[in-house]
Amino acid sequence: MHRSIQFVGSYSGFFSNSLKLHSFISISALSRTPHSYQQFRASSIRSESNPDVTSPSSSSSASKSPNFKSTDSGRKINFCQLCGGPTKHEIPDDEGKERAICTLCGKISYENPKMVVGCLIEQDNKILLCKRKIQPSYGLWTLPAGYMELGESASEGAIRETWEEARAKVKVISPFAQLDIPLIGHTYLIFLAKLMTPHFSPGPESLECRLFALDDIPYESLSFSSMLITLKLYIEDIKVGKPKFHYGLINKRPGTGPSEIHAYTFDYHLRT
Ligand SMILES: [Zn+2]
Repeated sequence: MHRSIQFVGSYSGFFSNSLKLHSFISISALSRTPHSYQQFRASSIRSESNPDVTSPSSSSSASKSPNFKSTDSGRKINFCQLCGGPTKHEIPDDEGKERAICTLCGKISYENPKMVVGCLIEQDNKILLCKRKIQPSYGLWTLPAGYMELGESASEGAIRETWEEARAKVKVISPFAQLDIPLIGHTYLIFLAKLMTPHFSPGPESLECRLFALDDIPYESLSFSSMLITLKLYIEDIKVGKPKFHYGLINKRPGTGPSEIHAYTFDYHLRT
């Protein structure tokens, strides 16, 4: 698999020139340096007004915890998650990043990205989409997806989210795309899946669920950049053969809103 992976440089389209690489070593050499990565993170971590920043599904409330407060410099943990004591923000010894450190018990609070899992369900050459009944992106179309929960696998989470949003029972076929969004600390993992029964209906987070023919995907009414990219990659794959597995980096333009789904570049695109 590694030898067939391709690298496609920074681009915002989907048919850029591709350069075949021979190993992951070559790929990692092309990645951002830690220094530039930290600069990017420092300048871009931000508020919950961003689309993909807030929950794609209401199943997670962690990002809304009262322990967090939005500031000009980013979200801060102000109270210890262990004892409730106030925190100070310093770079611990032997670390290169500022952390929230409890002034009472000394616990260091680490923040890590969240995993969003979902399903791309094709049925009779159509794709199942859900119209969101929740913010952000209320009234816009999405693949069924949401935050992975503790105690479940990624595929189990994707199946659960599909049930919650589309009341559809599905079987996961294969992973299709992993899309990182460093700006908001999210990683999407989307699986290809099939309906186990032909039935689906809107769950509590959806206004409507509908199968769309590949030529009728409502691109201008999609909820998130991640959904736009996933659907375009899939349709491109289908046009030339079978679905591949894709990895890519969605660099959302800082300050753009949830429904500004074209405000990104899609970088470091690898595919099987
Ligand atoms: Zn504490």
